[in-house]
Amino acid sequence: MPNRGALFTFLHRIRWFNLAVLTITPAIGLHGLRSTPLRSYTLAWAAMYYVISMLGITAGYHRLWSHRSYNASRPLQYLLVLMGASAVQGSVYWWARGHRSHHRYTDTPLDPYNAKRGLLYSHIGWMLIKPSVKPGTADISDLKKNEVVQWQHRWYFVIIIVVGYALPAIVAGIIWGDWWGGFYYAGMWRITFVHHSVFSINSLAHYLGETPFDDKKSARDHFVSALLTMGEGYHNFHHQFPMDYRNAVKWYQFDPTKWFIAGCAALRIASHLRVFPQNEVNKAELAMKLKKLRVVQDNIQWPAQAEDLPVVSWESFRKEAQERPLLVVSGFIHDVGDFLDQHPGGRSLIRSHTSKDATAAFCGGVYEHSNAAHNLLSMMRVGVLHGGVEHVDGIAPGERLKIVDKNRSRRRQQAGTY
Ligand SMILES: [Zn+2]
Ligand SMILES: [Zn+2]
Repeated sequence: MPNRGALFTFLHRIRWFNLAVLTITPAIGLHGLRSTPLRSYTLAWAAMYYVISMLGITAGYHRLWSHRSYNASRPLQYLLVLMGASAVQGSVYWWARGHRSHHRYTDTPLDPYNAKRGLLYSHIGWMLIKPSVKPGTADISDLKKNEVVQWQHRWYFVIIIVVGYALPAIVAGIIWGDWWGGFYYAGMWRITFVHHSVFSINSLAHYLGETPFDDKKSARDHFVSALLTMGEGYHNFHHQFPMDYRNAVKWYQFDPTKWFIAGCAALRIASHLRVFPQNEVNKAELAMKLKKLRVVQDNIQWPAQAEDLPVVSWESFRKEAQERPLLVVSGFIHDVGDFLDQHPGGRSLIRSHTSKDATAAFCGGVYEHSNAAHNLLSMMRVGVLHGGVEHVDGIAPGERLKIVDKNRSRRRQQAGTY
């Protein structure tokens, strides 16, 4: 019975506890929507508690314990483990270990939320199904020694019942008498929103946006994911500089977690805020800008270079110029046949300079041409004048070197042979 065996294996791989938390929580919330009207005080409390839970994850679980991007005093550490536990996403000890694996093995099978397996998997799939390959190892010796982290890990289930489920109802019930509203909206709905906001760091922040600092990995920067995740959406920067307490480096970018940590430092309950050298940040950004510019450069046709063009004597040039409109500018021979009627100064003006050296006229003698005009003219190159203007030493009189056909020159440029 191979099908029964496969079904049994699949069922065995489901993480039933996670599945229950992630489905029953919004289901109870939906029941609340039908049974309990949402009061304005309760809505404000739910929004406030959402921010508290999110900061517990972003400033605590992520930037403090996963990345050690600053030092926190003991009272702040206790506050952050309680705030983080209210998000009901596992203990710091479990969370930070997985997150360190994510950074170490990003986009590989050893990455617990490997973005290469798709948006749904990196968002929630990894939590519902046990992976066939175990996540890569990460050094967590500091977390093993941290008393606050270990205290939270030991008492995790008691703590989440208190701060995740009971406290939202108790506050709303005691202060404005809305026990059930507090439970449904500040409890169940707030947890559901926090879950999916944080999950977006693994999914959306590896999918949506730009890669201004490095494009080797899937992490990206985008305002929308920053808005959903209290500033964690500048994820491309974060993967490049993970020990920086900031995720947003530009003053106008939205990173309330950074502001919270800076505020804690101002209150002297946080210290040693780590910042990557600005010179290295600028260097990474410049490297990516240059890479993008190179793509633009590769899609532009460039003029033929002197070494790829035939060298032509003055006599040969003059003779050939009787058959087609050629002129010399800066030592290059140009075929202006296709351009005669497009010349802004008129056909007769350009005609009066054919079969001559028009360098002085082109470069200010008659008109100081723009850079665009110089670029356009350079695309009409068909040869190089031997020895410069009227310098024909070494060329036998009457010898006629073939001047390349302009279209052939263009074809060569397109083939990348110039
Ligand atoms: Zn990431
Ligand atoms: Zn991180």
